[in-house]
Amino acid sequence: MSDTILATNGLTREFRGFVAVNGVDLAVRAGTIHALIGPNGAGKTTCFNLLTKFLQPTRGTIRFKGHDITGLKAAQVARLGLIRSFQISAVFAHLTALENVRVALQRARGGSFDFWRSDEVLHIYDDRARELLADVGLTEYVDTPAAQLSYGRKRALEIATTLALDPEMMLLDEPTAGMTHEDVDRIVGLIGRVRQGRTILMVEHNLSVVEGLCDTITVLARGQVLAEGDYAAVSKNPDVIAAYLGT
Ligand code: ADP
Repeated sequence: MSDTILATNGLTREFRGFVAVNGVDLAVRAGTIHALIGPNGAGKTTCFNLLTKFLQPTRGTIRFKGHDITGLKAAQVARLGLIRSFQISAVFAHLTALENVRVALQRARGGSFDFWRSDEVLHIYDDRARELLADVGLTEYVDTPAAQLSYGRKRALEIATTLALDPEMMLLDEPTAGMTHEDVDRIVGLIGRVRQGRTILMVEHNLSVVEGLCDTITVLARGQVLAEGDYAAVSKNPDVIAAYLGT
């Protein structure tokens, strides 16, 4: 399909004979928010690791924007615009929120990690960094060291540093894991705001988050695609209900 931005074909990963991901065909449409859900051990993390080239598949292919990225390295995939949050965009605890986003912007323009260089160089990124922090609701915290931010705000900062790389597609690994209700609401609001035509694929356990945000949901169980569709369709699917209940 022409508007598919990311597609896998027969994606398979074995660990010493154990098939963790088994012939997965995934098609993510450009501009949508797509969720990968499923019970523990379903193969979601392995899938994510395959997509971002953290792991190599045993079999199958991955295409992004028409390129076969199956044999590429993580950095090459990132350069094509497929970025995994909370992995490539590390947050430096001792730097303020603003400094963290500046470093990410500098990296995005091909700079290295020389954030201790003269402040004059870094200030050219100030306006954009402040904009990104406003987008993720951290305006009040620009000068707060990352270490002092609440867990939820730290994750918002991670999203800001990912956005600094201007990804065409973002992979979010359990963006609301371990959050309070308030932080979950905040992250859901900010993902909805920052999508701006980007494509997002997320692994998410919180089904109300999936319901509220995601256009398409792929349900994995035992390494295979069990169901796919919008929330209303997959949540009524008897196979999905059985997989979640472990029957
Ligand atoms: P999920 O993220 O859906 O909980 P995972 O992708 O983490 O599932 O794991 C799927 C299955 O693959 C599990 O049974 C897990 O034990 C197995 N698995 C994952 N990584 C490895 C590994 N490095 N070596 C062996 N087995 C693995």
